[in-house]
Amino acid sequence: MEETSARGNLRINGERLWDSLMEMAKVGATDKGGNCRLALTDLDREGRDLFVRWCEEAGCTIRIDKMGNIFARREGRNEALPPVMTGSHLDTQPTGGRFDGVYGVLAGLEVVRSLNDLNYETEHPIEVVVWTNEEGSRFPPAMVSSGVFAGVFDLEYGLSRQDSEGRTIGEELERIGYAGEEVVGKPVHAFFEVHIEQGPILEAEEKTVGVVTDAHGVRWYEIAVTGQESHAGPTPMDRRRDALVGAARMVDLVNRIGLEGAPSACATVGMLDVYPNSRNVIPGRVNFTVDFRHPDEEVLDSLERKLYSGIEQIAAALSLETQAERIFCYAPVHFDDECISIVRQAAESLGYSHRDMISGAGHDACYLSKVAPTSMIFVPCIGGISHNEIEDAKPEWITAGANVLLRAVLEKAGRPA
Ligand SMILES: [Zn+2]
Repeated sequence: MEETSARGNLRINGERLWDSLMEMAKVGATDKGGNCRLALTDLDREGRDLFVRWCEEAGCTIRIDKMGNIFARREGRNEALPPVMTGSHLDTQPTGGRFDGVYGVLAGLEVVRSLNDLNYETEHPIEVVVWTNEEGSRFPPAMVSSGVFAGVFDLEYGLSRQDSEGRTIGEELERIGYAGEEVVGKPVHAFFEVHIEQGPILEAEEKTVGVVTDAHGVRWYEIAVTGQESHAGPTPMDRRRDALVGAARMVDLVNRIGLEGAPSACATVGMLDVYPNSRNVIPGRVNFTVDFRHPDEEVLDSLERKLYSGIEQIAAALSLETQAERIFCYAPVHFDDECISIVRQAAESLGYSHRDMISGAGHDACYLSKVAPTSMIFVPCIGGISHNEIEDAKPEWITAGANVLLRAVLEKAGRPA
């Protein structure tokens, strides 16, 4: 009881965390107030170097694995125990913001700094991690290095991912000096990641903390609709096989499938190619993409059935042919029940308004959940805007999320008996 109340008074230093965020935002700052630190560029190296320097100043030892993931370790009383880990990523989109990823990394550092200020010992070591190439913007796919850590991809695959100019992750890690020696993957006692929501729900509902219970599964499809090109003048309306008319009805179908499954389902057509794309030719072929998201695999199955049968009906009515292919899928994630309730309890006892929520985006925590008890903490961002240079958050939200993180980490790291 005594221990709980001692822990109950602990707070991070919000001002120091904010200052560090603003300092890191100078590395790769863009004109519109955002950040461009693409993975494994010189700017990414600069950001990493700054993080490493801050961690060393905070007394941490640094280890780097073969995927360039950085682990800053604050010793525990019992060094034989696996670490409680927290962190996120420092790489950004080309027009990224100051908070996506970097908040999770620097909130972890702030937890370490605060524990140092208080001379607070933990039983387990604590590690703050920077995962390489989370965004996948330069080297697809996203979250590749936490994926290797969790055994989803093998090391060979991870190191051989290429950017658009053919340079690999392995080569670029060597070049910037972050090709480490450590084996990728090790026991983790628990993993927590704090992140901005990247959506509008928390701000709209005036909640400070999102207790993330699940992450959406994702399925991607490519659909080809084939009709027949012909002249826009001489071809009567009732004789046409217009692939774009079919595709338009299919886009509407996808939207209706999403609306029927709302609020949990998301359904999007984001890309569409029309052939021959000429103003006086009836389109003979259209290719488009579908992105389905839902936290339940069975529902994803049913969305898929609706898509396949719906496009066939539309095609038949217009004498078109269709081909549909699922090209990518990513299973839904349910985070660890104990970690979820630790986060919820921490928000509650700190007096922050909170709600349970589902992550619509992928995060490193999704892969970590395969190898360690894991959960996530969300804080609002202004207008729900992210992957954008105007991405912003209020200092009090940033402080709140880090305070919840501190509690959660301590709950798992334990105090020496
Ligand atoms: Zn992120």
